[in-house]
Amino acid sequence: MSYVIGKECIDVQDQSCVDACPVDCIYEGERKNYINPTECIDCGACELVCPEIAIFPARRARGNAEWEQFTTDSAEFFSLTLPGRDAPLGDPGGAGAVGAVGADTPLVHDWEG
Ligand code: SF4
Ligand code: SF4
Repeated sequence: MSYVIGKECIDVQDQSCVDACPVDCIYEGERKNYINPTECIDCGACELVCPEIAIFPARRARGNAEWEQFTTDSAEFFSLTLPGRDAPLGDPGGAGAVGAVGADTPLVHDWEG
């Protein structure tokens, strides 16, 4: 399991969570950040520092339609070929080396809230 970033991050992206993550598994999209569900070690450090209270553990998403939607969407950020890219991100092993991805999933790209 991993932690997941929800809709409250969209268009905020203050990056506090990135600095808190011990394994550098929080990747920067265009409007939102995304946690790699394979690389996350489930430590919870990011949840504590997010000023928007956007981050939740995936294990608590069951039964909450919005959290389930963002749990799926977060995985898809890494498994889909995002706009402007020629392959999925996969599991790069560190967000710092990847840098700003400059794209979002369709859900986040089209999000109006
Ligand atoms: S700390 Fe919260 S609002 Fe800031 S980038 Fe991370 S998830 Fe988004
Ligand atoms: S739970 Fe820990 S390892 Fe996972 S994204 Fe948050 S800070 Fe990083």
